[in-house]
Amino acid sequence: MKLHEYQAKRVLRTYGVPTPKGFPVRDAADAREAAEKLGGKVVVKAQIHAGGRGKGGGVKLAGSPAEAERLAAAMLGMTLVTHQTGPQGRLVKRLLVEEQLPISREIYLGITLDRSARRPVLMASAQGGVEIEEVAARDPSAILREPLSGPLLHAYQARRLAFWLGISGDAFRPAVAAMRALAKAYDETDASLAEINPFVLTEDGRAVALDAKLDIDDNSLFRHADLARLRDLDEEEPLETDAINHGLNYIKLDGNVGCMVNGAGLAMATMDIIQHAGGMPANFLDVGGGASKDQVKNGFRIILSDPSVRSILINIFGGILKVDVLAEGIVAAAKELAISVPMVLRLEGTNVEEGRQILADSGLDFIVASDMKEAARQAVARAA
Ligand code: GDP
Ligand code: MN
Repeated sequence: MKLHEYQAKRVLRTYGVPTPKGFPVRDAADAREAAEKLGGKVVVKAQIHAGGRGKGGGVKLAGSPAEAERLAAAMLGMTLVTHQTGPQGRLVKRLLVEEQLPISREIYLGITLDRSARRPVLMASAQGGVEIEEVAARDPSAILREPLSGPLLHAYQARRLAFWLGISGDAFRPAVAAMRALAKAYDETDASLAEINPFVLTEDGRAVALDAKLDIDDNSLFRHADLARLRDLDEEEPLETDAINHGLNYIKLDGNVGCMVNGAGLAMATMDIIQHAGGMPANFLDVGGGASKDQVKNGFRIILSDPSVRSILINIFGGILKVDVLAEGIVAAAKELAISVPMVLRLEGTNVEEGRQILADSGLDFIVASDMKEAARQAVARAA
């Protein structure tokens, strides 16, 4: 789950990471008021779940409250396109109005999980303010990677990082403290990514998180009720939210062959074989090992809400869930939803013969394939 910048900063502040003073707003008049409280000169920042806003026109400096109001009016309601939003962009509904800081240096700090090392790693670079992927591609030696040996970044590690980054003078101690606070926040919020880009040193010797990104592991949200409340449904794919609410694992993709599959491994194999057959999956959908009739129905409903779906491939292995029970569910759901796109099925497992009989007796026009390859071929052909 992604947080907005203003939410991430609020969380990081509670851990002791310094951030600029600012206020989230939803209309231009409030932006003006915020700018007045902040002394006039402010930064107006679009709050969307994507980075690269600076280059895309989503971060603007205002010299006065009146200018902040004008910039806010122009930014709210605009579709902001950055290299992370995709060409369709994102509608701007919220802004963060912050005090301007006298920046002397921009640094990159980020913590994520290093799967191969089985521990979090803090990455730092003196080349902040640009995408870390860009730095990695251009000059990998410009990034220092400090593995976290426990949940915390030790003081000696943070000091070593600060030396390497060339931080000295008044900013040294606050920078060390901020890095350690970032590591603590990463650990205690069960984040999958905690990034400050840029982390700035100011001309008056402060070290401040000018931008912040915090992604929380969805699987941990049950123990973070306060963070779970920060979810912004405006920023999420409505079908994916719908699926979560019905215990389904759904991800929308760009193709036209809808997939209903049980088990994540089989779902991935199904997407692969669709591509192998020359087609493109419209989605990833795992209905789970013990899919009920209701889940099958909701699965169909969600697949069919995507207007690009031209055929549906149902690939189910009946283990926990017996194939005849599933077939009944499919028939009932197909009748209830009056499904009009071709449905290709590949069913295997317990009671498969009874299941096939139920489909044949239903009077509905199912295409029952003998194996996965044949099922994919048929589904792709019907979607063409
Ligand atoms: P992103 O492009 O989505 O990552 O948005 P950021 O919050 O990182 O802002 C992009 C850039 O805007 C930063 O790297 C800074 O160069 C600039 N910027 C943001 N806030 C300020 C500020 O208070 N003062 C100045 N001078 N520049 C700022
Ligand atoms: Mn940034």
